[in-house]
Amino acid sequence: MGNSKRHSSKPIFHRKYKNSSQACEEIHSSMTELVYSGSGIVPSQHPLNKDLGLSYASCHNCDSKNIMVIYTKRCVHPFSGDEYYDYEILCQDCHKFTQVSHADND
Ligand SMILES: [Zn+2]
Repeated sequence: MGNSKRHSSKPIFHRKYKNSSQACEEIHSSMTELVYSGSGIVPSQHPLNKDLGLSYASCHNCDSKNIMVIYTKRCVHPFSGDEYYDYEILCQDCHKFTQVSHADND
C-alpha cells in the first residue's frame, strides 16, 4: 500500500474539527485509534511527530516545509497490528492543504 499524498484548496480530514480553538487537541483516543486536530502546530511540537515522521512533511503543492499540522489520525489494527495513519497539513506559503495517508500492511 504505502503512501498517498494529494492537496486541495480546502481542508478534507480537518473539516469536522475546524472550529477548534486549540493549536493541537486530542479529539479521540482508544486502544486502536488516536486523533489530534486543531488550528495548527509546527511538526516538532506535535505529540506524534516521531511516530508519523512529521518532520519530513512538506507541502504537496509547492514543496515548502513551512507548514502547520492541523489533523492526524493514527490507527493500529487490533488483530494484525498493522498501522495506518492520515494527516493533514496547511502550507504557510501557498495556503494549500495537503493530505497524506499511510498504510503499513503488506
Ligand atoms: Zn505550499
